[in-house]
Amino acid sequence: MNVCGGHERSISMAGLRSALPAQVELIPGPGCPVCICPEEDIYAAIQLALNENLVLVAFGDMLRVPVNVAKGRVRTLAEAKAQGADIRPIATPGEAVSIARENPATPVVFFAAGFETTMAPVAAMLVEGAPDNLFMLLSGRLTWPAVAMLLDSGQAGFDALIAPGHVATVMGPAEWQFVIERHSMPAAIAGFTTESLLAAIYSVLRQLIDARRFLDNCYPELVRDGGNPVARRYLQEAFEVRDANWRGVGTIAKSGYDLASRYQHQDARRRFPARADEDRKRAGEMPPGCDCAGVVLGRIYPNECRLYGKACVPRNPVGPCMVSDEGACRIWWAAGLREAIAADKKRAAS
Ligand code: SF4
Repeated sequence: MNVCGGHERSISMAGLRSALPAQVELIPGPGCPVCICPEEDIYAAIQLALNENLVLVAFGDMLRVPVNVAKGRVRTLAEAKAQGADIRPIATPGEAVSIARENPATPVVFFAAGFETTMAPVAAMLVEGAPDNLFMLLSGRLTWPAVAMLLDSGQAGFDALIAPGHVATVMGPAEWQFVIERHSMPAAIAGFTTESLLAAIYSVLRQLIDARRFLDNCYPELVRDGGNPVARRYLQEAFEVRDANWRGVGTIAKSGYDLASRYQHQDARRRFPARADEDRKRAGEMPPGCDCAGVVLGRIYPNECRLYGKACVPRNPVGPCMVSDEGACRIWWAAGLREAIAADKKRAAS
């Protein structure tokens, strides 16, 4: 399993699957923060933007992720923006700070979803002092607990792990040592070039053949013991780790970031009333017919979803995996992967 959406993009765009022997499968994993962002959080962001006098800022990918509402109601942040809500896509936390400073009399809510690598600059923004009118709607997650959950389930469905190099750059490689120590599974940390990914694939295959197990750092240019101490200090100061919900997956222990108590006055969930709709059907679930949860957990390939390329395409995404550049469905579609690869692999397996 390759955890990260960035890995999946490099693998798919380089055509690595078709270059490998048929018995070697590369399974995309849970490393797309947009795909696993709880539906309720996106719904809350939409309702805040529509019903409060505020500016809502979010990373661009989030604007097109649909929630489950009755036909005719606002399904995405992009639709809310089209209806007049002040929603602004941003690329960095610094832009959220600038917008808050330019609008000192208006609350600005930063809907911040992402993994460790995205959350570190968000944490730095808070620790270094965000404006008082900037509030956080936080939906941050940690990657390794999702892999731990899969391995602990006893139904992981993969035999080796390619761990995300950017997460290891921030958090240090030791976080992934549990794959070796608790599960005796080959593991390697990869960067995002084809060379680094091939080195990691070679390493885990070699470990299987030689019956050796070790966490191989195939991204030594950036991954160092201890990770990035400055980024880790920011994360520790700004956030507390708690159990958290993953869309379509459920609650994963110690997998979410919450604001540390000293920043709770900037918590949008405290500042603004909750607008959850108890009668809303399929709240928290994937859209009807969408198999994103199966894709995220590596249980199916994207093109095994019956909506893939039919009802669900990048221009008209049904599920979050077809929205984000990190989503496996969108990556596969963009890379022209339709049916052949999965069919080949199934033939090899049978
Ligand atoms: S193809 Fe669309 S509907 Fe199917 S799993 Fe992917 S995102 Fe969900």
